[in-house]
Amino acid sequence: MNGVDIQADGYAIEVKRLIKSYGEHHALRGIDLNVKWGDILAIFGPNGAGKTTLLKVLATLVKPSAGDVSVAGFNLKQDAIMIRRRIGVVTHQTLLYDDLSAYENLRFYGKMYDVSNLRDRISQLVAQVGLESRIHDPVRTLSRGMQQRLAIARALIHDPPVLLLDEPGTGLDQHASAMFANILNSTVNKQRAVLMTSHSLEQGAALSSRIAIMADGKIAYEGSKQMDISNLRDVYYQCTGVKD
Ligand code: ATP
Repeated sequence: MNGVDIQADGYAIEVKRLIKSYGEHHALRGIDLNVKWGDILAIFGPNGAGKTTLLKVLATLVKPSAGDVSVAGFNLKQDAIMIRRRIGVVTHQTLLYDDLSAYENLRFYGKMYDVSNLRDRISQLVAQVGLESRIHDPVRTLSRGMQQRLAIARALIHDPPVLLLDEPGTGLDQHASAMFANILNSTVNKQRAVLMTSHSLEQGAALSSRIAIMADGKIAYEGSKQMDISNLRDVYYQCTGVKD
């Protein structure tokens, strides 16, 4: 059970006519996108398509230039603080403190979110991501893959209803990827939703229930996953002009 309320009758994520410009450059050029509760949406797209920018807007890390965004039923313009309590975020930066141990990092974030039974929650997550043997080692001594597993645990510490994951598979070996798939499957229910970006069509499609393809700051395709990987590669090529 989440420690925060959500508006479960609406969408988990609702984006209307979203535009984000950096000076003259339009990174997002009118995004319309809905994510239902219970969905795991994987977003694909070539470098520079706008995937990270979209995720950062949803995570309240980047301000939109125009458009309407709601996350967990809260409007980004009015209720960014309410959104922040309801999201778990993995970005290209791990947001971990290098000199603190894995345990200390999780305790720090757990306290920040006022997580109850924090010790038990940390033990549960550390077991889920398979970091038991390194839990008291400083983060800087962990491999990139281990740091990524810890970043995933950090994002989950407060049991957020909405997960925003920017290339969460980065640095994960096959075993860790399988562990991550298990975590997603056991976490997501009708009161949770996930939006993730992925560079790998194969990996992203395996993890998700819906897919979207971005090209040039727009959603070029959005739909359920009712196609095999070779069809998905064709659709990706048609949308982006890039071969996966
Ligand atoms: P990648 O797969 O390489 O991570 P992406 O699809 O995530 O790419 P974004 O990182 O969202 O793409 O970038 C979209 C566009 O916006 C790119 O052209 C990028 O150069 C530009 N951009 C992103 N952040 C900034 C910024 N802070 N200032 C100026 N331009 C930016």
